[in-house]
Amino acid sequence: MQPVQEFYPQLLSPKKVVITTHQKPDGDAMGSSLGLYHLLIQLGHTVTVISPTNWAQFLQWMPGTEHVVDFESYREVALEKIAEADLLFCLDFNVLHRTKHLEPHLEQMKATKILIDHHQQPQEAAFHFGISDTTKSSTCEMVYDFIVDSGHADKINHDVASCLYTGVMTDTGSFRFPAASANVHRMVAHLKDLGLNHTVIHENIYDSFLENRLRFTGHVLLNRLEVMYEYNTAVMSISKGDLLRFHIKTGDTEGLVNQLLSIQGIKFGALVIDRDEERKWSFRSKGDFDVNTFARMHFEGGGHFNAAGGRSSDTLENTVKKFKVVIKQYHDQLQ
Ligand code: 5GP
Ligand code: MN
Repeated sequence: MQPVQEFYPQLLSPKKVVITTHQKPDGDAMGSSLGLYHLLIQLGHTVTVISPTNWAQFLQWMPGTEHVVDFESYREVALEKIAEADLLFCLDFNVLHRTKHLEPHLEQMKATKILIDHHQQPQEAAFHFGISDTTKSSTCEMVYDFIVDSGHADKINHDVASCLYTGVMTDTGSFRFPAASANVHRMVAHLKDLGLNHTVIHENIYDSFLENRLRFTGHVLLNRLEVMYEYNTAVMSISKGDLLRFHIKTGDTEGLVNQLLSIQGIKFGALVIDRDEERKWSFRSKGDFDVNTFARMHFEGGGHFNAAGGRSSDTLENTVKKFKVVIKQYHDQLQ
């Protein structure tokens, strides 16, 4: 993978571009993809954003979502764009399997592949150019740097600003995590100077749920949470029945795992949800407990030091049992 700076000259002549991101895109995945989209169309490129799957309703307000192609619903359209693309941007993920069923199609592409991402252990050989920086708060911050550094800061319009702000806000837990650096705040100040309305974005993302989602949260906090004080760990498991009873849709469970860390003294929060094909874990930690390594070692996952995910193909009950066995090895680290 060559440094992304070497790629900048290629931005200057019109190309057919595909931008893609990880499955079930979150605010940072969708924000960085659409932020880049709104830059590239101004530079005269023909651009298609392809999401491997659908996304949360609370991201639907973002400018440009109406043009995003959901690979699972519009496979033929997506494959046509992939076949004719000159450039492929991969944002907010760094191993191709995070694009689920899109993976084999991305692998076969002849296009020049560019990575912009902040997760650990990138699959560098899969990309021609790129930047991978785990110190960055978000891929949106990196797309902002990409735009400024490549000399296109004058193209940051209201749409670019709104999209990029969204990912920085969601990936930093509204500017509270350590990665919310001075540079992040300088970026936001710049976006504010350009007319960004941050209040509306916070409302769109955090105050746009239906009643059922709040009641679901109450139900699972009351009935599905186990606090293991000996390990300073809180674990929650959610069954298919819980999801059905409260009509839970993509995005409704986002942020739930963070609530586990709101209990005094709890350093490690783990949430497992019984999804259709697999049991999907979300791990969060405070301080020096490395959930990226934990996810990699025990649950076929990965992510960041304090936020990671994983999976299991065993039953929900057995998956939780396994968690309770492996956590014993970490007794001392979790004190
Ligand atoms: P979340 O819990 O919000 O789904 O994911 C937390 C972080 O871990 C995100 O940065 C996400 O990209 C990463 N992540 C989630 N699941 C996986 C996984 O199965 N494999 C890897 N490598 N990273 C994951
Ligand atoms: Mn991200």
